[in-house]
Amino acid sequence: MGFNERERAFVEWYPRGYGVGFKVKRKLFEVQTEYQKLELYETEGFGKLLVLDGTVQLVERGEESYHEPLVHPVMLAHPNPRNVLIIGGGDGGTLREVLRHETVEKATMVEIDEKVIEVSKLYLDVAKGAFEDPRADVKVDDGVKYLKETDERFDVIIVDSTDPVGPAKLLFSEEFYRSAYEKLNGRGLYVTQAGSVYLFTNELLDAYRAMKKVFDKVYYFSFPVIGYASPWSFLVGVKGDVDFTKVKGERAGKLKLHYYDPERHETLFQMPRYVRELLERA
Ligand code: SAM
Repeated sequence: MGFNERERAFVEWYPRGYGVGFKVKRKLFEVQTEYQKLELYETEGFGKLLVLDGTVQLVERGEESYHEPLVHPVMLAHPNPRNVLIIGGGDGGTLREVLRHETVEKATMVEIDEKVIEVSKLYLDVAKGAFEDPRADVKVDDGVKYLKETDERFDVIIVDSTDPVGPAKLLFSEEFYRSAYEKLNGRGLYVTQAGSVYLFTNELLDAYRAMKKVFDKVYYFSFPVIGYASPWSFLVGVKGDVDFTKVKGERAGKLKLHYYDPERHETLFQMPRYVRELLERA
C-alpha cells in the first residue's frame, strides 16, 4: 500500500483486494462489546472513523452521503410520516435525519449494542442532539425481537444495520420482512441498506427476492457513499398505495439536503446495467 507506519491506512479489504482507505492519524481505542469489535480512529481530513468487526461504518465528514439517501427518499415519498422506527443506527445519524421532518411525532431507535450508542455520544459528532430530542425513544434491544413484540404501528421503518452477518443476519430474512410488513400502517414504507452494488450483489439479490415475496411493491436504488465500496444499494418495500417514484417537493425544500436531490428523485433508480438485469430476473 506504500503507507508508512504513521500513515497506516485503514483499508477495508474485500475478497478481490478492493477496498476503501482512510489515512489514519491514530487509533483512539478499541473495545470488544457483547456483539462486535468496536474501533475508533482519527483520520486525516475525514474526522473520526467508526469501525465494527473490521468494517467501516462511518466517517464524521461525509456520513450524510449515506444517511440522506437512506432516510429522505422514503420520508418524502410517504404522505405524512408521523411514527418512524429505526433499527440499528447506533451512531445517531439516521435518527438525526428522521427528526428533521416536521411531520415526525415519534422516532423509535432500536440498537442492539449499547456500547455503540455510548461511544457515539462520547466521541462522535454525528447525532447532533438527536438522542436528546423529546420525540426520540432510544432502546437497546435486538430489532428482530423488538419488532415481533411491539404493539406499535409505523409509517416508515428504516433498517440502518451492519451487513447481513452476526446480529444483523436476520434483519435480511423473509421472516423479518413479514413482521415489518405487519407492523407498518396501511400506507407504509420500509427501507434497508443492502450493501455494495458491485461487491455484495448476491446479498442485494437475495434481499430483493425475499422482499418481493412480502411487500406490495419493491424498489431498488443506489447512491455513492463516502467510506463505502460504492455505489451502495438500498431496497424499499411498499405497503398500500404509496408511490415511491414521487416525493413531496414542498417538504423537501425545508431540509436543505447536500447529497440526495429530491428534484432529481428519478435519477436515484440508476443501477449498473448488468445489476439491473439481474434484479429484473430475480
Ligand atoms: N449508520 C452508520 C452508517 O453511516 O452506515 C452505520 C450503521 S450503524 C453503526 C449499524 C448498527 O446496527 C450497529 O450499531 C449494530 O450494532 C446495529 N445492529 C446490528 N444488528 C442489529 C439488530 N439485530 N438489532 C438492532 N441493531 C442491530
